[in-house]
Amino acid sequence: MTRIHLLSPQLANQIAAGEVVERPASVVKELLENSLDSGADRVDLDIEQGGVKLIRLRDNGGGIDKADLPLALSRHATSKIGMLEDLEAVGSLGFRGEALASISSVSRLTLTSRPPEQESAWAVSAQGREMLAEIIPAAHPVGTTVEVRDLFFNTPARRKFLKTEKTEFRHLEEVVKRLALSCYRVGFSLRHNGKVVHQLRAADSETAREQRLSQLLGKAFVAESVALDVQAEASGLRLWGWMGLPTFSRAQPDQQYFFVNGRVIRDKVVTHAVRQAYQDVLYHGRHPAYVLYLELDPALVDVNVHPTKHEVRFRESRLVHDFIFRTLYRVIADMRPQDTPPPAG
Ligand code: ADP
Ligand code: MG
Repeated sequence: MTRIHLLSPQLANQIAAGEVVERPASVVKELLENSLDSGADRVDLDIEQGGVKLIRLRDNGGGIDKADLPLALSRHATSKIGMLEDLEAVGSLGFRGEALASISSVSRLTLTSRPPEQESAWAVSAQGREMLAEIIPAAHPVGTTVEVRDLFFNTPARRKFLKTEKTEFRHLEEVVKRLALSCYRVGFSLRHNGKVVHQLRAADSETAREQRLSQLLGKAFVAESVALDVQAEASGLRLWGWMGLPTFSRAQPDQQYFFVNGRVIRDKVVTHAVRQAYQDVLYHGRHPAYVLYLELDPALVDVNVHPTKHEVRFRESRLVHDFIFRTLYRVIADMRPQDTPPPAG
């Protein structure tokens, strides 16, 4: 009989990576979330070969203290929560303290950072199983760069599941799109194999936000949608964003973005409420297009449901469902009279 023994930290990280790091797009999601959490207002992504060869993200956020660099790559190490109460009302995108540890266990990762109060930058790297604990001086402006090379170089089974460069990049671009739609105050750039794919300026006005929408979802979406912003007084729930007109329905549900407190989510309660609101005005089999933001007290939503944090649990799901349904239903009802042009003369 084999005796029970503790897993080495590296093996434990690789097992955890199985949950969080499925493909280059998942790495980009985690890195971008970290940059947004750091307060950056500018992030630049450089991708090579669909992200398998290289993912490099540079931000101008708050950076990481030299002394904390090795910790940033350790599992269960985070600066974002400290106690159970924090977990019950998470305000940041990250909180699990796992992403960098997981990613570095299945790639060659270098983390370079300089907080504003530090004279110069420092870097730390890890190559899969081997953590090079050594911290070396580096040249870098205030902020952080994470470089992830050769994803899954040491886990061939994972690597085999990767699709073509084009497909991997498509997934990755979708992640960037979602995060760019979640955070208008941040400027984004995305380059693939040296070519600029997206260049999005920080958007601080309605016009600028619509320009970003149009860059990411197409001019037609903006032209064929209405903006809304509704807040319920009693519950404090707020729903804002853009709803596609019924005439802009789609054959696929490919333009549906729903954010809860800035986090893109998939949720049955939400999907059902939206679908119900559109029910009377869409042909069977057609899907509405929308970009919607629900904002509510973080204590009313549990984000610690799944490692990828794509799922949430509402404390009062009935209330949330009815608020979304009623709000959207009213907007749709208001759209209708415009279907028939006013009589001439
Ligand atoms: P989490 O985001 O759940 O805390 P991560 O493994 O993603 O865990 O990151 C670990 C820690 O490293 C973070 O809590 C944060 O303090 C720091 N960190 C990671 N990326 C950045 C960044 N781009 N800017 C500043 N700090 C960062
Ligand atoms: Mg994180």
